[in-house]
Amino acid sequence: MFVYKILTLNMTWLCPVKCPYCHVERKASLKDDHYLDKADLVRACKEALSLSFNEFRFSGGEPTSAGDKLFDYARTVFDITGVKPSILTSGVYINENWIRKSSGLFSSIYISVENPLHPFHEVVDVNLILKYIKEYSSEETPLRFGLTLVGPESYKNLFEIFESLYEGCGQKCWPQLTSPYLRSFVKPTKKELKALSVETQKIFRKYGAIPCYFLAFTGDKVFEKEHAYRQVANLNPDGSYEKFYSLKQLINHKKEKLNKSIKKRSTFCQNCDWKDCCSPFSEDLELNMCASYCDVRRALFDGMLDGLENAATAN
Ligand code: SF4
Ligand code: SF4
Repeated sequence: MFVYKILTLNMTWLCPVKCPYCHVERKASLKDDHYLDKADLVRACKEALSLSFNEFRFSGGEPTSAGDKLFDYARTVFDITGVKPSILTSGVYINENWIRKSSGLFSSIYISVENPLHPFHEVVDVNLILKYIKEYSSEETPLRFGLTLVGPESYKNLFEIFESLYEGCGQKCWPQLTSPYLRSFVKPTKKELKALSVETQKIFRKYGAIPCYFLAFTGDKVFEKEHAYRQVANLNPDGSYEKFYSLKQLINHKKEKLNKSIKKRSTFCQNCDWKDCCSPFSEDLELNMCASYCDVRRALFDGMLDGLENAATAN
């Protein structure tokens, strides 16, 4: 099995946006302005290098609230690992000056964009972010969509949402639609699931097999290598790795969880039509949320398949 390892470098829990669904919201605070120490960053990068990590991603909280320190840290990651880091941001502090300063430092700059029809917050102007992606995304400043969270009430408008983001950025990059998950997951009604399938079909029919579509539900296998698994480890602003003191301990813990999850799936999934193409994606979702997520997954898979088949017939 290919394990793609991502080290999330949580710069700070500080975030001025405070989305209601945010998984760190309970930790994030407008008053908590502690930032990751450089010594912890250096230690983590060296350990991750020895454990063959593939990607280093600044996140938080809001990583761009660190100002120029973020650019300095990005250079440090590259100097130690030889890999340019990526960054996940709400875009709240992105402007022309920030884009200019970030040139050449990041492998991808993922900006989470709100659902334009039904935003969870209006702190960041969606149209401004679309304009920045359209005008400034380049090899040196690879501005990309981060997640756009779409609740079940908006499933009926998925095609319109997808199209307005994709066309709005001049087709520079694919939107990454998904639903709130983990503790923020809302179980859709039958009507909403039907809408999810129908709208997914329309999107896949028009645009083909787009990557990173409801990734938390569909898994990686569809778009990445077969038997690929994404393992995410968090370095927190206080220098700890979630509940662990070393990255190695955390990785071993995650390996155990994954093995349990694979075992559970082999019995749970045995009668499902989708078992040969439904991929594992996260040990947490697998163990705790499997049953609740499967209706959403099946609706998505149905829509994707119908859309791709229709597109093939039309050609
Ligand atoms: S912008 Fe990101 S870190 Fe800030 S509250 Fe929203 S999801 Fe959480
Ligand atoms: S949809 Fe659910 S039951 Fe079916 S293969 Fe995927 S995880 Fe298993």
